[in-house]
Amino acid sequence: MSQVIAADLVLMDVNLATMDPSRAGYGLVEQAALAIKDDKIVWLGAQHELPSLATETPIVPCRGMWLTPGLIDCHTHLVFGGNRADEFEQRLQGVSYQQIAEQGGGIKRTVAATREASEQSLFELAGKYASAMSQQGVTCVEIKSGYGLDLSSEIKMLKVARRLGESLPLQVQTSFLGAHAVPAEYVAQPDSYIDLVCEQMLPQIAQLGLADAVDVFCESIGFSLAQTEKVFNKAQQLGLPVKLHAEQLSNLGGSALAASYNALSVDHIEYLDEAGVRAIAESGTVATLLPGAFYFLRETQKPPIDLLRKYKVPMAIATDFNPGSSPICSLPLMLNMACTLFSLTPLEALQGVTINGAKALGLDAERGSLTVGKQADLALWDISHPNELSYQFGRNTLQQLWQKGKEVNFGGVQ
Ligand SMILES: [Zn+2]
Repeated sequence: MSQVIAADLVLMDVNLATMDPSRAGYGLVEQAALAIKDDKIVWLGAQHELPSLATETPIVPCRGMWLTPGLIDCHTHLVFGGNRADEFEQRLQGVSYQQIAEQGGGIKRTVAATREASEQSLFELAGKYASAMSQQGVTCVEIKSGYGLDLSSEIKMLKVARRLGESLPLQVQTSFLGAHAVPAEYVAQPDSYIDLVCEQMLPQIAQLGLADAVDVFCESIGFSLAQTEKVFNKAQQLGLPVKLHAEQLSNLGGSALAASYNALSVDHIEYLDEAGVRAIAESGTVATLLPGAFYFLRETQKPPIDLLRKYKVPMAIATDFNPGSSPICSLPLMLNMACTLFSLTPLEALQGVTINGAKALGLDAERGSLTVGKQADLALWDISHPNELSYQFGRNTLQQLWQKGKEVNFGGVQ
């Protein structure tokens, strides 16, 4: 007797880029079918091998289009007050970054606007950005705090991120980034600010369950290695995984430090050297590349892609969406930029926003590839090969999106 599968929905006449690491390359399965039950993938394979279906199983005919895992944006600063378009304009009129900072601009201004904004207004603004992301195929996004820089404002940002995850068809992973910048009131005593982060903010935020991970901006203009280590120690005590903004503008050795704490990811890493690459390879830490910030800041130092390949470090790609250095909420554009600016192959780029994006969030057991048993987060594209996702930009080829097995309708925040 032939096997019968119980499914809520079956996609037929579809081509799969499974991105399953147990298959080669894109993990292609052409002329395929894929079955969903509840929020999981329960069957996939060549359509002619599809077992019998219970009568009345709903079928979605996909007319030969391509299905990938829902895209994962593993590094964003999506919740913030105001924007800085006027500073962008000023800079192009010749006003220096220094002058803008002296006038209270830059991150200080975003911190002031975020502190002042109500939770509801932050939620509505962030909802627009998050909806724009899902309209481009994103089903999972990481959102950092870090524009509050005091306990109540950091909590407010993280609550907004959690609410987005509850009200949109989007898995939201939160990172506490209290150590993003030194707030104005602590400018003369950054170590006291780190004490506040470690002794008050982190324990309370952990207790409220608002952070899935802890991040630090480790840089000459951010926090030192010693300060970073203090935050990591506290995170470790509280059982929270860590990640790091590292080696963006200089090589401080942040990535090796992060590796010693088994960090989920090190992000930016333009200045990472071979010893640092070796360290993250050994710890299984993902290298998250952020071509949007590289582009917007007109940087010239590229991340060490050949070394990352040599040591087989998984590379993720993300938008780094934020109001200062990467006001870009298009993950498909990042696919293109990862190829054009960093010379990734289209396959590596797509891995970066699927399986490796999931790894960077510690979610690869349940997301990031089309694999039986994984969550049914699926993006259907009107393309003729998955390499087109990196190649063309500007025409949104997304046809349909499912998150947790449910079709997404793009109504935005309710
Ligand atoms: Zn960032």
